[in-house]
Parts: sequence; C-alpha cells; structure tokens
Amino acid sequence: MSRATAIDLCYLVAIAAFILALKGLASPRRARLGNIIGAAGMVVAIGATFAQPNLAHLWMIIVAMIIGLVIAVPAARLVKMTAIPQMVAVFNGVGGGAAALVSIAEFISPAYRGAATYKVVEVLFGVLVGSVSFSGSAIAFAKLQELMTGRPITYPGQQALNAVVAACVVGLAGAVIATSSAPILWVLLIAALVLGVIFVLPIGGADVPVLISLLNSFTGLAVAASGFTLDNNLLIVAGTLVGASGILLTRMMSQAMGRSLPNILFSAFGSVVSASGGTEGPEGRSVRSGTPEDIGVLLAYARKVVIIPGYGLAVAQAQHAARELADTLMARGVEVFYAIHPVAGRMPGHMNVLLAEANVPYDELKEMDEANPQLPTTDVALVVGANDTVNPAAKSTPGSPIYGMPIINADQAAHIVFLKRSMRPGFAGIDNELLYDPKTVMLFGDAKDTLQKLVTAVNDA
Ligand code: NDP
Repeated sequence: MSRATAIDLCYLVAIAAFILALKGLASPRRARLGNIIGAAGMVVAIGATFAQPNLAHLWMIIVAMIIGLVIAVPAARLVKMTAIPQMVAVFNGVGGGAAALVSIAEFISPAYRGAATYKVVEVLFGVLVGSVSFSGSAIAFAKLQELMTGRPITYPGQQALNAVVAACVVGLAGAVIATSSAPILWVLLIAALVLGVIFVLPIGGADVPVLISLLNSFTGLAVAASGFTLDNNLLIVAGTLVGASGILLTRMMSQAMGRSLPNILFSAFGSVVSASGGTEGPEGRSVRSGTPEDIGVLLAYARKVVIIPGYGLAVAQAQHAARELADTLMARGVEVFYAIHPVAGRMPGHMNVLLAEANVPYDELKEMDEANPQLPTTDVALVVGANDTVNPAAKSTPGSPIYGMPIINADQAAHIVFLKRSMRPGFAGIDNELLYDPKTVMLFGDAKDTLQKLVTAVNDA
C-alpha cells in the first residue's frame, strides 16, 4: 500500500470516528464513550497529517501545537461548568480565525496564481465565514464573561448599517473574483471582521448561547471551505459535520425557547426586559416561607415528588445533595423523578451533565415533554434553583421576554416548594407569579444547604 493510500485510509478511519462520536454524544449514557472515540479519531487524523510527504514548517507546527496545549488543557480542566458557553465561544472563534488564515495563506501562495474561479470562491467563503465567526465569537465571549454588557446593544440606523457593511463585503468579494487581488482580500477580511462584530452586538441575554451555536456552525462551514481549498477530504467532512450539528443545535435551542431563529438574530430581544432585580417581591405581596422540618414532613408523606433542577442547582453544586434527598425519599417508598427542561441552567444538557456526575440513574431523568403529563398527579414539585423554566408567564403573559417558551408545569402539582436564596428573578430578569401562588412554599437558602437539611428532616419525619 502506498503512503498516500495509507494516509487516506487513516483519514477515513478518523471520519468514521467523528461520526460515531457525534452519535455517542447524542445520549447521556454513551456521551463519555463518544468523546473518547472523537479524541481517538483526532489523534489518528493528526498522526496521518504528520505522515504527509513534504510536510513544510514541521517545527512551526509543533511549536504551535505546544502553545495550544499549554493554553487549552488547563483552561478545559479549570473551567467552571457554568462558564463552558464562553469557553466554547473562544475555541469556536479561534477555529474560525484559523480557517480564514489558512484560506488566505493558500490564496497568496505562488501555487494559487491564476487559479480557477471556483477555487477563489472557496477561499472567499473560508475568509468571510471564518472571520465573521472569529469576531462574532469574541464579542459573544465578552458578553458572557461580563467584560461588556450582556444586553443587546442597539443604536439608530443599526439594521441599515449592517446592510451597508454586508453589501460592501459582497462587493469586495466580487472584486476579488474579478481581479484575484490579494490586497482586496485583506480589505475583505477586515470588513468581514467588522460585520461579525456588528452582527452580534444587538444579540443579548439568553440568546447569546444560541448565537454561539450558530457561529459554531459557521466555523464548521469555514473549515469545510478550507478543506476544499487544500484538497483535504478530512477537513471537508469534519467541517460539514460541525456545520450541520451546529445548525441543528441552534434550531433545537431556539425551539426550546419558543422563538424563531430570525427573531433571535434580528429582534434585539431582551433590550426591554423589565428586571425587578431587587430582593423584594412587588409591593404589598407576601410569600409563604417554610422550615426544613415542615417541608421534610410534606415530602416524606407524599406519594409522588418531582425534582425540577435549574441554574441554582449548578451554582450551589447541589447535585449530590439532590440525589441524596431523592434516594432517602425513594427508600421510604415515595416515587421520585427529575423533570429536565431543555434550557435549564446555562448550556444545553447542563442538568443532565450535573445529575450524571451525581450518578442519578438515567431512567429517573424525564425530559420536559415526558414529565409534564405527570405533573397533575404529582404531590410535590420541588423546584431547586430553577425559575424561568417554571415561570407561568411563558404561557400567560404576551410581551414577557419568555412568552412562548415551553415550561415545566410545576404549577399543576398539588404543592410547590421553591429552594432559592431570595425573591430575585432568574436569567430573564422577570418576576415569577408562581412564587406567590397559595400552593407555593419558599425555603430560602443555598440549595445544597437546604437540600441537606431536607434529608435530615425527611429522616426525622
Ligand atoms: P434561572 O436563571 O431562571 O433561575 C435560577 C434561580 O436560581 C434564580 O432565581 C436564583 O435565585 C437561584 N439560585 C442561584 N443561586 C442559587 C443557590 N446557590 N442556591 C439556590 N438557588 C440559587 O434558571 P433556570 O434554570 O430555570 O432557567 C435558565 C435560564 O437561562 C432560562 O431563561 C434560559 O433561557 C437561560 N439560558 C439557558 C441556556 C441553556 O442553554 N441552558 C443558555 C443561556 C441562557 P436566587 O438568586 O434568589 O437564589
């Protein structure tokens, strides 16, 4: 077998590994295995690339890889679970930037002189989409990391300016096709970077992670384009997989929020959110708060309890305590399940990851559509650090920032218990009527602490 055939074969193995990895990642049970298969595929791909004959700049490649490793390994190990969306933004952005640079490097190399028009179009696509992804991801990172306001930034004439810059980019692309001029390509790169920034500025709040997923898809397409430029099948397939899975995730996230993608991208949604922000409820309204002992008795003598986890569970790192409470209740014969909202927490699958870490059996986790029909026959809905994802305003208040988002129907349970620290709103910044419902009892405090107290109370009941 020739060396070229062996390399192609390795690439084929890597491609198969990437596809199997995606399949594995689709289920919590196989996600870890999927990750390992994907990483193994990447090792095969990198090994095969090093085996390429006439590989130029070997030492530069090795130094770049070492720099990447030194930055990425500690970053991935140290990152808090709640900060993963911004880390994805960074990794995604540099991927898009790399694809743009690879396309430019090929374009300005002597071998590319007089290349066919379709080859120039491939380069343009890589530069344009990769640059938009790079600068857009940088702004998305800054928003999530709170280096700038997370709210949509709007100004008069914004749509018109965006349209003008987009038109300039198209015009410059036409000029590059007509002239094959490298200086015009550099100008196009700058214009595309500007377009990425101004495209992302008006997107804010809960829409930023959806945007990151979309930019991730863009990066995949830019990588696929650079695969065409380099005649590299592996890059074409891997880039297309990222592009397709990114767009599917974007669609699923926007559906889970009850919004269309154009609405997320172009409506500057969230700029008019009226956050109360305070620790008090609206004037004159009182809430019922209970003690761990009262609520322990309520839980211990219930027939069916649903635990509804949210972002606060992640903040408090209360997943183990939640499992302990569930186990304690189940040992007493109480039926317990967890209701998982698709956008609970701050990233897709956030609750599944946390609860898997606490070894909660997968069959106790019910996705929203499966959980909701059970709520009317549930005695206690124990809402642990969730807020927006159980807020009935999503069904009842047109004009609310979360209106239209499907929710977990905690309001249909016989009793509702909220574990949170105060009356502060959740991510969307809006009050939750359910906190004032006569069926609701508040147990104020850090979720881990209150869950542990509930375990003791249930044991004593
Ligand atoms: P929310 O953000 O609506 O509410 C979280 C609640 O947790 C807060 O009200 C807070 O109240 C409470 N909390 C915080 N820390 C603690 C703690 N240590 N102990 C106890 N409670 C605590 O969470 P949800 O999960 O219900 O909703 C997720 C929101 O995030 C949705 O609006 C969603 O659209 C958005 N989003 C989701 C993404 C995803 O992909 N999953 C991505 C980005 C945004 P208090 O301060 O009083 O304790």
